Amino acid sequence: MELKTINNSALRHPQCRLCNAPLTATFVDLGMSPLCESVLRADQIDQMEPFFPLRVLVCSNCFLVQLQEYVKPESIFTEYDYFSSYSTSWVEHARQYCKMIVAKLNLDRNSQVYEIASNDGYLLQHFIRLGIPATGVEPAINVAAAAREKSIPTIVEFFGMDLARRLVSEGKRADLIIGNNVLAQAPDLNDFVGGMAIFLQPEGVITLEFPHLECLIDQNQFDTIYHEHFSYFSFVTIDRLAKQHGLKVFDVERLNTHGGSLRAYLCHADAPYAPSPAVGALLAHERQSGFEDIATYTKFSAKVHHTKRRLLSFLIELKEKGAKVCGYGAPGKGNTLLNYCAIGTDFLDFTVDRNPYKHGLYTPGMHIPIRPVSAVDDARPDYLLVLPWNLKQEIIEQMRHVGDWGCKFIVAIPNVEVIDPRDLTS
Ligand SMILES: [Zn+2]
Repeated sequence: MELKTINNSALRHPQCRLCNAPLTATFVDLGMSPLCESVLRADQIDQMEPFFPLRVLVCSNCFLVQLQEYVKPESIFTEYDYFSSYSTSWVEHARQYCKMIVAKLNLDRNSQVYEIASNDGYLLQHFIRLGIPATGVEPAINVAAAAREKSIPTIVEFFGMDLARRLVSEGKRADLIIGNNVLAQAPDLNDFVGGMAIFLQPEGVITLEFPHLECLIDQNQFDTIYHEHFSYFSFVTIDRLAKQHGLKVFDVERLNTHGGSLRAYLCHADAPYAPSPAVGALLAHERQSGFEDIATYTKFSAKVHHTKRRLLSFLIELKEKGAKVCGYGAPGKGNTLLNYCAIGTDFLDFTVDRNPYKHGLYTPGMHIPIRPVSAVDDARPDYLLVLPWNLKQEIIEQMRHVGDWGCKFIVAIPNVEVIDPRDLTS
């Protein structure tokens, strides 16, 4: 696939994608990194590999944490390996959401539900089953095809003001627009949210789910930063973004998904939804926690540097003692961690993944071989470095038999931690 790259060097200071102010402050600089989902075939590991800066900036005016756009989304998202339906816990999350929102908004067969970045229809299938008309918008051709196979109407395009105006001109408007984990992936944030405002019925509702920046900072989740995620949101930035487009946030909930997320409910500024007390409470909490103070952001780097040193010292000590260490998982976030810390096959013999699509391939940048999970039983390592820390409980439960030969788990985020499965009760 050809990468459509962007040269930002003509700009002395890049501009904030929310408020256009010049970006002069750094949140964290993770060095140069390949695109985290670009796993390699054996014949590719001797070739040049594109690396892009993973330097995260923060706007001193509106406090949006953001990466510059180095690669066009068309290069990342038009063919995508991630099928939401592979994750059973995510499908269950979607089912619960559907049940809740249908009751909350009294949706029925006269309603129009749209999901932006609808993936393979993992969520909309629940609306269709209830007889509620639902349409997906999904730019990845292969995953959109999977949704159509489930009889979920899907528009194969990027969402923005152009598409919204065209749909409105065809007499279409949404009573509910769902955006789950898509806001971060919109390089032109104002065009994206502006499109939602155009497309929404006067009394329609938008729900947005996104990883909460407060969790990223507090839990040291720097490995959730990658080129596909252009923006990282606090609730104060979401509130500002809504206001900028004639919308208002009228409710918010905290979720446990993706290491800690928010679900924000938006409507037109003049729509008859009174803001819940949760909105004012979370805004006040964030302001008090310093989310409108640039120093809160600029001190994050030191924490990340510390984690890198701790993890490397720990791994070096293990290797000096002759320990055999393997990885568990090959998620996108694992590649940010591995590349930033330069952990290659000098530390990890290989990693394993449950997704058969990745077997026989190599991680981007560090070129660690990806094998089936059964490779752990053959190699009998002394330690397993768990890369998808958000699933650590599930993984340790599934793999606790490795304790039979004395193998322990290492989790790097939020802090380096060793878990001996033999210590676990039940
Ligand atoms: Zn800004």
